[in-house]
Amino acid sequence: MARICLKNVYKRYDDTGKSLFGKKHQNDFAVKDLSFECKDKSFIGILGPSGCGKSTTLRMIAGLEEITAGEMYIDNVCINNLLPKDRNIGLAFEDYALYPPLTVYDNLAFNLRAKKLSEAEIKKAINNVAPLLKVDELLTMKPSALSGGQKQRVNIARAIVRQPGLLLLDEPLSHLDGKMRQTLRQEIKRMHHEIECTTIIVTHDQIEAMSLADIIIIMKDGVLQQMGSPLEVYDSPVNEFVAGFIGEPPMNLLKSIIAKTQDGFYFTFKDSDLRVKVAEEYYSVISDSMRITLGVRPVDVIITTKSTSTPTPVAVYENFGDERRVSVRVGDELLNLTTQEEIVYSRGDIIKLEFNSAKTHLFDPVTGMKIKTK
Ligand code: ADP
Ligand code: MG
Repeated sequence: MARICLKNVYKRYDDTGKSLFGKKHQNDFAVKDLSFECKDKSFIGILGPSGCGKSTTLRMIAGLEEITAGEMYIDNVCINNLLPKDRNIGLAFEDYALYPPLTVYDNLAFNLRAKKLSEAEIKKAINNVAPLLKVDELLTMKPSALSGGQKQRVNIARAIVRQPGLLLLDEPLSHLDGKMRQTLRQEIKRMHHEIECTTIIVTHDQIEAMSLADIIIIMKDGVLQQMGSPLEVYDSPVNEFVAGFIGEPPMNLLKSIIAKTQDGFYFTFKDSDLRVKVAEEYYSVISDSMRITLGVRPVDVIITTKSTSTPTPVAVYENFGDERRVSVRVGDELLNLTTQEEIVYSRGDIIKLEFNSAKTHLFDPVTGMKIKTK
């Protein structure tokens, strides 16, 4: 069990930051000014697109990568200069890296033997952990006989068998197929409830982060964008990037121009007749002709008969059985909506749309930051 805290951590790799001509790029930090704190026993998800600095962050915490600047603490102890083996951390990366000639039991025992535990203690530790990850039936097998999902279970079991204070998982499900991912995701969640070990998982998959973590850290280009509970980042994204990254299908982000009429403000769109009424709570922060980016999730776009908005033709209709998706063209963008209602449309059918006004988000088109109501 451990509390972890990063203060203004930077990472620049020596061999990046140089162009062909030896000049430095400006954006040559893999991680920039990263600060966050995780409570003891929490489950943190670091989420972001490939190359945003997730693995670098994890490797710095593990001590496998030196930090360029900043401070890192575990339970108030500065770990900057501690060797990896002295940080009491369990690690499982996406590549299982099990020792092929050894049985699963001996793979799990390997680090414990290195720590000179007695065989009786080792057996006890393995017997405690094996059922948690359902590897108890695999103990006599060699890695070559295991499926991808089984290898990953062994990999995670090996990370927790030493009872680390902090468990670090780097894309542990990324090699697995859809069904196996879901099963193992549930196993990891259950395991975390049982061992209550502070855990950080790194993933580019928002569903993984949303379902596993209590707190999500979203990164882009080495910079923390938002930290919050899954619901906070879903309901109150601080900027366009977070808004577009969380949610499937993603939030609609439409370039809009505000138009003032006698009966209030409307969202209007270039090369489109669509007009949608703006929620009154925004009236204090908008003005006629103002450009904004309108964010609205597909579930919050509603087909209606009494709407004051413009009749619009259906551009795409998709039926997924449990959910239907309808898209309409708005200028050169598509506005997507999802519904569980039993509706069937064809391309060209005319519909009217309304937005769930409590769930519309306005962003500054220049900075991408959320425009807050006063
Ligand atoms: P992520 O895990 O989010 O995909 P990484 O932390 O692996 O991202 O990488 C962040 C940035 O640092 C990327 O631009 C990547 O190319 C660079 N990088 C990662 N590892 C190294 C390395 N060993 N040497 C040089 N650059 C690296
Ligand atoms: Mg990575």
